[in-house]
Amino acid sequence: MISPKFDALVLRGIRPFRLGLLGGTFDPVHYGHLLLAEQAYEQFDLDGVLFIPTGQPVRKLGTGFSQAEDRYTLLLTATEDSTHFDVSRIEMDREGVSYSIDTVRAIKAVYGEQASLFFITGADATDDMATWKDAQELAGLVTVLGANRGEASSALKPSPFTVCHFHIPALAISSQDIRARLAGGGSARYLTPDAVLAYSQRQGLYRSRGGHA
Ligand code: NAP
Repeated sequence: MISPKFDALVLRGIRPFRLGLLGGTFDPVHYGHLLLAEQAYEQFDLDGVLFIPTGQPVRKLGTGFSQAEDRYTLLLTATEDSTHFDVSRIEMDREGVSYSIDTVRAIKAVYGEQASLFFITGADATDDMATWKDAQELAGLVTVLGANRGEASSALKPSPFTVCHFHIPALAISSQDIRARLAGGGSARYLTPDAVLAYSQRQGLYRSRGGHA
């Protein structure tokens, strides 16, 4: 299974399902992530956006991060009121480092030509993607949607990827800042949904414990 909500819609659809993929650590998910997904959904006429929490993130090797099950539950909590968002376990249930090419291959293996894949990311990351594992193959499987949050656009570097740039309102929210506020006993209200904060508090997440990048 790729997505409890989308699998049947994709496989029984009469035209390719336009599926946005938003991967990340989501420790915790916040309104910046939700806004990014919603704007990609609306601006590119997507049929749905799949949040994919990483198992072992490539860029954060050796740093402390919350259990995948907790990050997954936080995402379910934050997205449950949306009909066009879902959360996938494919990376967290896979052993080892979470490379995007492995994830996209796994999705393609199930959905085949029934889905068109759109990889949603911040505009800055689009330059970096050319260095990712099997970038050429990945570029043949996805269209990249690069969100610009008002930052000056950098000179375009050669890349195998097809990148569609789009604009979203800049929300200066980061998971790291939320963790720091909670660890210091402060408030993170209005930075992330109340239900995310309630679950975090119940589970004792983000109390002072250090170790985050
Ligand atoms: P992340 O830090 O958890 O962020 C997830 C996404 O949310 C990113 O696109 C990030 O864009 C965006 N975001 C964060 N705060 C935001 C805000 N306030 N407003 C709008 N957007 C916001 O995840 P990540 O480490 O960047 O990784 C993203 C994906 O790339 C993951 O699926 C990861 O596995 C994949 N990746 C793959 C490889 C590889 O295959 N070799 C290497 C690196 C990453 P910004 O980063 O621009 O903030």
